[in-house]
Amino acid sequence: DGAAAQGAATKPGGLADGTRVPLLANLAHASDAATAIAFGAEGVGLLRTEFLYLDRHRAPSVAEQTERYVEAFRPFAGRPVIVRVLDAGADKKLAFLGHEHEENPALGRRGIRALREHEEVLVDQLRALVAARETTGVELGVMAPMVADADETEYFVELAREVGVSRVGINAEVPSAAVLADQLAPLVDFISIGTNDLTQYALAADRMLGSVAAFQDPWHPAVLRLARMIGAAGAAAGIPVGVCGEAAGDPLLALVLVGLGATELSMTPALLPEVRSELSRYTLAEARGAAEASVAARSAASARAAASSALSLSP
Ligand code: PEP
Ligand code: MG
Repeated sequence: DGAAAQGAATKPGGLADGTRVPLLANLAHASDAATAIAFGAEGVGLLRTEFLYLDRHRAPSVAEQTERYVEAFRPFAGRPVIVRVLDAGADKKLAFLGHEHEENPALGRRGIRALREHEEVLVDQLRALVAARETTGVELGVMAPMVADADETEYFVELAREVGVSRVGINAEVPSAAVLADQLAPLVDFISIGTNDLTQYALAADRMLGSVAAFQDPWHPAVLRLARMIGAAGAAAGIPVGVCGEAAGDPLLALVLVGLGATELSMTPALLPEVRSELSRYTLAEARGAAEASVAARSAASARAAASSALSLSP
């Protein structure tokens, strides 16, 4: 079909000066993998794994998980696949993790906080991921959601390495992780910025709440500055910094994020072609110029306008 033909013909992601920017897919189900390939995904930058756990009274067995991961990984043999361990809590409460009512669930016991109290669930998931890697030959990376500081980072990295994961990272989506990025980057093999939650927490605006939706804008210079801190820390530590929030699928913002230090971008597969084409038009120096203009702006709207005009002025 058309999408498949496009995938076969796609060049790898990169800027006009030859700077490589791998373009990866966000997947929410094992069965999304084929679509991602069709749109030219070079790998997976975020496999959300909640689909395996929702609507259940107990966690799935290692064997069952392995089977689903093998299904998701198979089309990506020899390529990078980043899986995020279970991000339960907030809007996705699970009885077997002992989730109770919370007044502010987005600020509650979610992500790595919940897993840490149920380490057996986390270890089973890591074992299944390693088994699926062995079967399929993907270049597996595993990251933890909602990591806030060095203590949580060290906890996750140690456990994941013990189980046999060789590329361990964090999803940087809590503002404290951005502020502390210089401490966290040397502990991990990669960082992936989650702009959805990073925006929600930076602007103190519940992403599920329509009345504050105007604040849920990753163009906000506060969010861009947090991304810049993570980009700088990643560069200093010599590790890749990805973006896997919705922001990476906005072509102009994708370019700005590269200017802020992102080295790879992951998005809904259907958005890959437009981002690929936008990136190919500009150099790294131009992306950096656009980024500099955006972070100096006072609002999300003016940050976008500043990026756009910086690029139209560049020779
Ligand atoms: C994010 O927070 O940006 C992210 C990628 O994760 P999710 O949208 O699943 O919370
Ligand atoms: Mg998130």
